[in-house]
Amino acid sequence: MGEAVKAGLKSVLERFEAACKRRPPELSLIRPRLVAVSKTKPNELIIAAYEAGQRHFGENYIQELNQKSNDAEILSKCPEIRWHFIGRLQRNKVSKVVNTPNLYMVETIDSAKLASALHEAWGKFGKEPIKIMVQVNTSAEAEKGGLKPEETPDVVSHVLEKCPNLKFAGLMTIGQYGYDISLGPNPDFQVLTKCRLDVCQKLGLKSDEVELSMGMSDDFEHAIEVGSTNVRVGSSIFGARLYKPKSPTHEDQK
Ligand SMILES: *Cc1c(COP(=O)(O)O)cnc(C)c1O
Repeated sequence: MGEAVKAGLKSVLERFEAACKRRPPELSLIRPRLVAVSKTKPNELIIAAYEAGQRHFGENYIQELNQKSNDAEILSKCPEIRWHFIGRLQRNKVSKVVNTPNLYMVETIDSAKLASALHEAWGKFGKEPIKIMVQVNTSAEAEKGGLKPEETPDVVSHVLEKCPNLKFAGLMTIGQYGYDISLGPNPDFQVLTKCRLDVCQKLGLKSDEVELSMGMSDDFEHAIEVGSTNVRVGSSIFGARLYKPKSPTHEDQK
């Protein structure tokens, strides 16, 4: 199992590097980050990927993030691991997210109230501000989390003005599954890019200071080519997941 993960990671990294080389000149200096999405996968596979050099890992169930990040073996074997929370977050669960050793980023802030709750919970630690992304529902699908694009600047503004324990890092989308790339650029990625432009214009930010988290196993290369700074890749590294009844975007409501 560990060997298969190392091979999966190596192949994803090769495709990742090749996609970086295909970027237009204006993107060539921005180095995207690979987040290995380890949800439903056992600790030994996380450790195998870590030993192969991977540092950023993503989880979308709060309970699972909590267990994995606090696990003694992970803590001792993966001291430089950087956890990303990429699942739906309820306000009454922010204390669990905060209780994640080596938490690097929360990518799924989708309301001003949730931002304030995380800000307060994180503040009790007196650490450096925690990086967050604001999630945008670029595909306007009812079951996907995230803000409407037009609601996004106000929530980003709230984070910047009212939540000094949070460090605004960028915008994140999940997008439509199974988009056929032969039809042209993925519209979700275009909506997120446009949303960044709006946020930057309204709030006076520079676009190279605002990350875009977009792209998963099926489309991470295309996402890199069009400007993603953070791709979240699970099954191409760890193998297919054996799903519980619900799809990933509905999960983590417990
Ligand atoms: C599961 C998940 C991914 C990774 O999906 P793959 O298709 O396995 O690469 C990325 N982002 C989010 C938010 C997820 O829940």
